[in-house]
Amino acid sequence: MSSWSLSPKVVVIGAGVAGASCARALCLSGCEVHVVDKSRGAGGRLATKRLEWLDPQARRRSARLDHGAPAFAAGSADFRQFLATACPPGALAQWRPTLAPGSRPLDSAGPLWLPQPDMPSLCVGLLRDIPTTWSFAVDALRHGPLGWQIEAAGATLPGHFDAVVLALPPAQAAPLLAAHRRDWAQRVSLALMQPCWTLMGVARRPASVLHWDVARPEQGPLAWVMRNDARPGRESSADEVHWVVHARAGWSRQHLEQPADEVQSRMQDALQDWLGEPIDWQHAVVHRWRYALPQATGAVLPQPCWWDDARGLGVCGDFLGGTGVEGAWQSAQALSSSMLRNHVDA
Ligand SMILES: Cc1cc2nc3c(=O)[nH]c(=O)nc-3n(C[C@H](O)[C@H](O)[C@H](O)COP(=O)(O)OP(=O)(O)OC[C@H]3O[C@@H](n4cnc5c(N)ncnc54)[C@H](O)[C@@H]3O)c2cc1C
Repeated sequence: MSSWSLSPKVVVIGAGVAGASCARALCLSGCEVHVVDKSRGAGGRLATKRLEWLDPQARRRSARLDHGAPAFAAGSADFRQFLATACPPGALAQWRPTLAPGSRPLDSAGPLWLPQPDMPSLCVGLLRDIPTTWSFAVDALRHGPLGWQIEAAGATLPGHFDAVVLALPPAQAAPLLAAHRRDWAQRVSLALMQPCWTLMGVARRPASVLHWDVARPEQGPLAWVMRNDARPGRESSADEVHWVVHARAGWSRQHLEQPADEVQSRMQDALQDWLGEPIDWQHAVVHRWRYALPQATGAVLPQPCWWDDARGLGVCGDFLGGTGVEGAWQSAQALSSSMLRNHVDA
């Protein structure tokens, strides 16, 4: 991008793994980076939720449960090297969960990685020392002679930027792209995402002691049944289980628009049926992920990222890089390399 100054100003929209790792790479190479996200903090789908409720004696209770990606694999040497360099000691724990009898095997043969002390910590660490603006749901990008401006609900982020990076799920990137790259906006519509209903809650430990950490039922509505209390570095209690339960993509799609209380009740029933004994819930809620994981899109979206050098506009995310956390990182790496290649060569 010929118009870049010595220290180009880049705004990254989206503080999930893709946005945070792209921001870090650009920052380390001398760019002046600002990150915005519509949420109150970093992490995106690497998410931990705090539940709060009153127990029957009206005492305040709380628990923190990981309700997005349960963990991630690091299949490539490059990604493992990145994690070793970017994460301080203790920031990631290995997780080799014990599977319940009759479970489908895990997708990855190697260890899974679990950010500590909670899931967003990975992105929080990557964004250390990078300016951020939270609760800023970008709804317009304007391009003028001085560069890019970013808007949310009529408010403009101060300053002009040489480049914009969209690190968002495809349905959220499409409306922002439409005014600038209609072809990209159309192409992202090919990137279909699987939804996921997630049940999380705290229950009394069942009579039968549980000797496993994760169940992956072969059949029925539930894809993942996880004991959050049995994960490294998470809260545990002798007489309670912290459940996080992900429904299958097909079941989630079928029930996507159903009221949350109905979905919760169905998922609680499904868990009870699967366990074969009653569950004494202390508190439970559901969360609907409209865009949990990309469906395989390699054939229709073969490039790991998109970069328009003339406009200074880039797109990255798991839907371009493959799937999951590693795919999001790979996409961000590809994008930051493309941006920096042009900058260094200029
Ligand atoms: C239930 C579930 C299970 C999963 N299981 C696994 C697994 O086992 N292994 C694995 O590797 N991965 C798993 N994943 C997927 C993994 O979490 C994602 O692939 C990865 O986190 C995607 O990162 P990202 O940065 O591309 O997107 P995201 O994490 O979605 O980040 C996008 C960010 O953009 C923000 N945003 C969106 N719109 C706007 C806007 N208009 N303005 C400003 N900000 C905006 C969002 O708030 C979000 O923070 C799972 C995800 C879910 C939900």
